[in-house]
Amino acid sequence: MTGDDLKAMLLATAAAMDASKDQLCALDGEIGDADHGIAMSRGFGAIRTALDDLTGETPTGVFNAAARAFLNEVGASSGPLYATAFMRAAAILKGKETVGANEARDIVVSMADGIAKRGKAERGDKTMLDAWGPASEAIQRTTPQSVLEVFKTSAEAAKIGAEETVNMLAKKGRAARLGVRSLGHRDPGAVSAALILDAMAAHLEENS
Ligand code: ADP
Ligand code: MG
Repeated sequence: MTGDDLKAMLLATAAAMDASKDQLCALDGEIGDADHGIAMSRGFGAIRTALDDLTGETPTGVFNAAARAFLNEVGASSGPLYATAFMRAAAILKGKETVGANEARDIVVSMADGIAKRGKAERGDKTMLDAWGPASEAIQRTTPQSVLEVFKTSAEAAKIGAEETVNMLAKKGRAARLGVRSLGHRDPGAVSAALILDAMAAHLEENS
């Protein structure tokens, strides 16, 4: 996967975030302030704009542009979290012209690490880390043979992780203020994380 292939994958993810906007806002409406879909679709929209006239860029350059665009566009808490995640991915790919299975695994792991460090959330706090964390762990348990396999495995683990947030008590972010009333709802950030990885896997599958 070249920088341009990576760009195409991020553009496909942006389309998925547009399509999921209402669902994510509705989920955030249950335990937050109903803006998560807007934040994600605007953030990825800004990535789309930033990447539109960027061709022949390295994978690091693509992720750095994505990080800047997301940070500038999104004022909600997901803004700095994803900006950090993309910055970490950019850093781990430094000096690489292409992304293979190992680099793809490094992307997922470094994005999860970036979100964990920036948000200071623990697993089980009912945040997006409850999707990114399982994705990162799942991919570290395997020896992936392809980029597609990395994103497929990650997406499956993230989806299960996001579903499991239903039974978690929110300890971080806006939903934490609800206490026990946060129980019985999926965390919007965990659901969007699973959708991001799923969109990436679907894009790779369509283009393989
Ligand atoms: P805001 O809460 O500022 O409105 P969003 O609605 O865009 O921001 O995002 C909410 C999501 O952000 C939550 O569902 C949760 O997954 C995630 N989140 C909030 N705080 C943290 C944190 N400290 N660490 C990781 N994720 C967090
Ligand atoms: Mg919100």
